Amino acid sequence: MDAEDKSLAEAGERRVDWALRSMPVLRAIGARFDATRPLDGLKIAACLHVTAETAVLVGALKAGGAEIALAASNPLSTQNDVAAALREYGVAVHARAGVDRDTYYRHIHQALDIGPDIVLDDGCDLVNILHTERVELLDGVTGGCEETTTGIIRLRQMAAESALRFPVVAVNDTRTKRMFDNRYGTGQSTLDGIVRATNTLLAGRTIVVAGFGFCGRGVAERAKGQGARVIVTEIDPVKALDASLQGYEVLPMAEAARTGDLFITVTGNRDVVRAEHLAEMRDGAILANAGHFDVEIDVRALEELAVTVNLGVRPHTDEYVLADGRRLLLLAEGRLVNLTAAEGHPAAVMDMSFSAQALAVAWLAEERVRLAPGVYDVPAEIDAEVARLKLAAAGIEIDALTTVQADYLRSWRLGS
Ligand code: NAD
Ligand code: SAH
Repeated sequence: MDAEDKSLAEAGERRVDWALRSMPVLRAIGARFDATRPLDGLKIAACLHVTAETAVLVGALKAGGAEIALAASNPLSTQNDVAAALREYGVAVHARAGVDRDTYYRHIHQALDIGPDIVLDDGCDLVNILHTERVELLDGVTGGCEETTTGIIRLRQMAAESALRFPVVAVNDTRTKRMFDNRYGTGQSTLDGIVRATNTLLAGRTIVVAGFGFCGRGVAERAKGQGARVIVTEIDPVKALDASLQGYEVLPMAEAARTGDLFITVTGNRDVVRAEHLAEMRDGAILANAGHFDVEIDVRALEELAVTVNLGVRPHTDEYVLADGRRLLLLAEGRLVNLTAAEGHPAAVMDMSFSAQALAVAWLAEERVRLAPGVYDVPAEIDAEVARLKLAAAGIEIDALTTVQADYLRSWRLGS
């Protein structure tokens, strides 16, 4: 290794050490895995964002006895220093920040070359490739975990069409993931990415949040907390009503497009901001996506509308100049702004998501022979254990049911 690689790996190690400080639950699970070796002899191919927090997860899985190959789950999100540190640590990492689409998929193929027993995915790209282009590996794969909402939507569709060939655990659907990672993690890190990229003032601005699910709610809360006027767009009447009763203005995108200063998509859907919306936007409007891949903002429509494109007016900020002189600013090429322009969710949040992930892998290792192909919830005890350990690490105590209370909750004969 040359001096440059060595200093990159050292910087990555420092970053991972910093993350470790805020991940007490995953640290404890790693120590337990080290003692019990629940993953001995297992090969894992993982497609996750290559960040310091992922490195801590990889460390726990490795301590449990697994051999791991890692590819990035996004072409822009890799922390190159962390990738270098992980390679030093004996993990086959196939990832680099800023790769093109072909290289991104080639890296996933390279991770699969390990011949996995278990796969970890974040958005279902790796599972998709396994079922379409690497079917020869399917017989060896005995289980998987999926980290995010959109991946699970896709897996459920695969299962419904009897296309899914192995059991997959829906890590995203745990309460400790969705309530904290999607909500508080996305809420904070999305604004962090936007501010790092643009240094824009949030107070007093009109911020349009597209989608009021777990992520959208988090982004809207944090934007409101910064003093922004928040408009929500939705397609689900219940979510729209919820947003309205929480005091947000709810509008169709066609109307919101005319007044927003900053647009943030978190829907998991495509073409949420498209040509007819772009045509209405104010000069200087900022466009950011924190939902799924680069499909939520129609970047091609933006390119077609623009007469000039000034790439990199700031890091992760491209300026599109329209025929009438208006300038629209696209962040992170329309990909996840929180993992491209910032560092993704804080380690304290990923502590919960990745502890659930690590325990789900150990559960799979034990149960996979008994599970038919399909999508499985993480056992409720794992969810509760992660929350209990997190509370203990924070020194927070809670009440326990008395016997009388437990009986009361189980009874129906007594009346009130
Ligand atoms: P969710 O299902 O809870 O919420 C999505 C919301 O978007 C729903 O309320 C849905 O009705 C709404 N929606 C769908 N199409 C829409 C449209 N055209 N216009 C307006 N609203 C629309 O999902 P979630 O857990 O909030 O996740 C949202 C997306 O963010 C997913 O793609 C998920 O994978 C991703 N995600 C990103 C991060 C991150 O770090 N950036 C973290 C977690 C999840
Ligand atoms: N791969 C797809 C979907 C990603 S959804 C894409 O890039 O568009 C985002 C996921 O990233 C979330 O489920 C969240 O758990 C994960 N994430 C957020 N911050 C992270 C971090 N610091 N390290 C690793 N993963 C992170």
